[in-house]
Amino acid sequence: MTLRQVINTIKKENDSMRRRALGSQKVWTFSLALDIATDILEMHIPRKPIPDGYKDKCPVCGLVVKFGEHYCKGCGQKLRWNE
Ligand SMILES: [Zn+2]
Repeated sequence: MTLRQVINTIKKENDSMRRRALGSQKVWTFSLALDIATDILEMHIPRKPIPDGYKDKCPVCGLVVKFGEHYCKGCGQKLRWNE
């Protein structure tokens, strides 16, 4: 199972759980925790920086990143420099 498949599976089940558990504070808290966990997992799927003149920017937070850096120093997004 790829990381993308893990994220998609968690998101799908989280949405389903939310629809079935209206009003349950415990489920909403757990659901929020799953949202945060999937956001953190998303940061570990490498994304290509966005060229901006002579600079490159993080595709998530927009911070200028240096060529070859593995992670954005602003938000922690994993970066991919090749295609
Ligand atoms: Zn960033």
